[in-house]
Amino acid sequence: MTMTAPALVDFDEALTRYEPVMGLEVHVELNTATKMFCGCPAVFGGEPNTNVCPVCLGLPGALPVVNEKAVESAIRIGLALNCEIAEWCRFARKNYFYPDMPKNFQTSQYDEPIAFDGWMDVELDGETYRVEIERAHMEEDTGKSSHMGGATGRIHGADYSLLDYNRAGIPLIEIVTRPIFVPGDKAPAVARAYVQQLRDLILALDVSDARMDQGSLRADVNLSLRPVGVSTLGTRTETKNVNSFRSVERAVRYEISRHAAILDDGGLILQETRHFHEDTGTTSSGREKSDADDYRYFPEPDLAPVAPSREWVESLRATLPEPPGERRRRLQGEWGFSDLEMRDTVGAGALDLVAATIASGAPAAAARKWWLSELARRANEQGVDLAALPITPADVAAIQKLVEAGSINDKLARQVFDGVLAGEGTPDEVVQKRGLAVVSDEGALSSAVDRAIEANPDVADKIRAGKVAAAGALIGAVMKEMRGQADAGRVRELIISKLT
Ligand SMILES: [Zn+2]
Repeated sequence: MTMTAPALVDFDEALTRYEPVMGLEVHVELNTATKMFCGCPAVFGGEPNTNVCPVCLGLPGALPVVNEKAVESAIRIGLALNCEIAEWCRFARKNYFYPDMPKNFQTSQYDEPIAFDGWMDVELDGETYRVEIERAHMEEDTGKSSHMGGATGRIHGADYSLLDYNRAGIPLIEIVTRPIFVPGDKAPAVARAYVQQLRDLILALDVSDARMDQGSLRADVNLSLRPVGVSTLGTRTETKNVNSFRSVERAVRYEISRHAAILDDGGLILQETRHFHEDTGTTSSGREKSDADDYRYFPEPDLAPVAPSREWVESLRATLPEPPGERRRRLQGEWGFSDLEMRDTVGAGALDLVAATIASGAPAAAARKWWLSELARRANEQGVDLAALPITPADVAAIQKLVEAGSINDKLARQVFDGVLAGEGTPDEVVQKRGLAVVSDEGALSSAVDRAIEANPDVADKIRAGKVAAAGALIGAVMKEMRGQADAGRVRELIISKLT
């Protein structure tokens, strides 16, 4: 293994000689109340080693029991991915020693996954790419190690390691694609769109909170290159636990450039796992891995096989939500958004927020305007997701109602957003506390207009002479005097009626 930074070939240049083939493995932590094989609470965080019992600690003699709710979620995910659901399948022991897996095996599924042979259509820039799903299987999560005392947080250089088994045994579904063949220039974006749409689907199914930042949805990116025109697959690398959509895209791009440099040089790709580094957008070597890794799988003798009845499977099929792609098309039609407007809304992660704002009574265009301009800007400044802003779709709809009623204008609305985001209360309370209501007292408006006319005789003369466009200067003067709290349309009417 060389320690020097690897050479890279420019992405576009690499694609003139090589064709990338991807495979994506996504782990989804289910939101069941309890763990996969015991009654411990399946919750994120918590004091280390408090949500544990003999089963998830792997103590001798402890016997696991399958969580029915987890099987139900697995079947629903499989059905939503157009998979076949096994009539009979078993769990298997995947044997390996690792400190965060106290049983020395992981209970997983091997050659008998609960769901298999499915597909998902990924939509990107108006094109559809079908991603074939090989399997979705059930397994349990591992515990968590923290390596202390070193500079990198990695085990190398650490003084000691801490183990937390709260996560050990939380139900996981691993969704594995077949090799994905798409035009090379599209590969990074298709990988990102696949993970994004898979997350939408998981959220719509309500089987996980699917938070990439907390690891409840994590993606492994497999990538290989083959010379253009060659049909056999090249050696792949597996970049593990990529934890944002953007990073999925960057990891694919980076590995294409890195593989191409090695292959151009006559080198061989080492089959290995790799780590992705958010800060640099690069990957580094993890551990060597071969297909011949011998985990000595064998059927788990302590668990009964899972044999979901066809009646149960069909009753679960009836609970599936509208597929995300169809829902987007339906909503776009209902809202009257252009393709570009819809793409921007989805891309900003604002689809559900806009939908909820409209459901709270706001017109579609206004809902989109507030979320994609005013609120997207603030989310961007704070480096958080739109959904993480402390304002609800109902608040946004309420602010829009105030605008429509003429109580505030767009400019004042921005101050109401400031107030709500600062925790000053509901939109109505913010308007009250900050005294933001538009002045609708005709007498006050009229005298403000008179003062503006008096102070700007030249402008007034122009308007009298028929140059109505000049009214802007007077409107500006009135708005300034009223500190923005006037209805600009009404001010304009007053000016015109006084001067013409
Ligand atoms: Zn337990």
